[in-house]
Amino acid sequence: MFGLHSIKLPHFSAAGEQTSRRINPPKVVYISMAQHIGVPCEPLVAKGDYVRLGQKIGDSDAFMSAPVHASVSGTVRDIIDVVSPNGRLCKTVVIDSDNRMQLDPSVKQPQINCREDFIKAIRESGAVGLGGAGFPTHVKLAYDRDKVEIDTLLINAAECEPYITSDYRELMENSDAVLGGIKMIMKNLEIPRAIIGIESDKPEAIEKFRKMTAPSPAIKVAVLRSSYPQGAEKMLIYKLTGRVVKEGKLPSDVGCMVMNASTAGFIHSYIRTGMPLVKRRITIDGNTVNAPANFFVAVGTPLHDVVACASVRKQPDKVILGGPMMGTCAFDPDTPISKTNNAVLLFAEAPVYTESPCIRCGRCIQACPVNLMPTELEHAYDERNEARLTKLKVNLCMNCGSCSYVCPAKRPLAEKNQLAKDLLRRQADKNRK
Ligand code: SF4
Ligand code: SF4
Repeated sequence: MFGLHSIKLPHFSAAGEQTSRRINPPKVVYISMAQHIGVPCEPLVAKGDYVRLGQKIGDSDAFMSAPVHASVSGTVRDIIDVVSPNGRLCKTVVIDSDNRMQLDPSVKQPQINCREDFIKAIRESGAVGLGGAGFPTHVKLAYDRDKVEIDTLLINAAECEPYITSDYRELMENSDAVLGGIKMIMKNLEIPRAIIGIESDKPEAIEKFRKMTAPSPAIKVAVLRSSYPQGAEKMLIYKLTGRVVKEGKLPSDVGCMVMNASTAGFIHSYIRTGMPLVKRRITIDGNTVNAPANFFVAVGTPLHDVVACASVRKQPDKVILGGPMMGTCAFDPDTPISKTNNAVLLFAEAPVYTESPCIRCGRCIQACPVNLMPTELEHAYDERNEARLTKLKVNLCMNCGSCSYVCPAKRPLAEKNQLAKDLLRRQADKNRK
């Protein structure tokens, strides 16, 4: 059952104490056409075109997709293929900024008269889950009301990974928009109640939202124990409602919709202004950063510009996009910030672990939030035993990293699960051919 297994992690949330800062828009942005889970967009612009801030520059006919917009005004230098940190080759529009931030005339407040208008507007905004998963938001909203009844909107403000505080700053600095976004979703989708889940280590945010929601009995604030991975979707649903999303099922199957707090805030801002998702708040922290803080960064800003705006003691030798548990190491200083990046962590002298033989302590099994047996999965992967990997349900692994974190033998358990899933995927592709 979900919610029985979690681990304690250190916090390192110094950036959460500072008001978010703005950095100057970069001279050049690299805007990937693959900014979400789902089908990548195709560019709508060509080399040499002049584009304006907020102009749609990429889209797709696929339902499971969200458009991409220019985060600066300027000239399209080129359209190139860029290897993303996850190894995917992504078509990328390179724009030389003219430093004028000329607004595109399409940026205007959308007219919302019904549920369909609302969902269409959210699609046009390019919204994706800002908590890191990058699920196109309009897909979540467009559930079939004849088949599914959603009675609870859950707002994920757990932010349980160390260092990351971008959602927390959203709660503190943009609280009216977060609450406004929640009310907009509830009204347009006719969802009768909402629960905002905030971890107990954020008392100021809890107090603020308790006060703000006091006149709205349909919206409650729930205090979550500070543990990891509290913000994982199925775990959050269990903690906040007691409902269990079974294997192969979706949150909507148990009447829930989960939305990240920053996504709710963005929805409100977009419906009020029409400005699509062209910038986001990210946490810059790590042991080389003198003054950890959150920054508003234009989508497509190259990593080296982000590093340059942070005051660092020494050049980092390890850069993580996202948190230390589930983030991805960036190997190229030109890697652009995407809609789903919520943190850039800059480390020097990061420890190097040497694995030793498994001592059969069982800690990895105790730590796994979805009751897998990581040590058994490791054996199965080492033997490339696809049948056993399937039987042990490696597909349920959410790559939270808890097993690797607690393992005293420092075995790369979570990493091997990723490889195992890839092995099964490739085998399934082969079988289809
Ligand atoms: S990485 Fe996968 S196997 Fe390891 S604890 Fe998390 S869910 Fe379980
Ligand atoms: S935590 Fe590490 S040492 Fe302990 S059983 Fe799991 S793999 Fe083996």
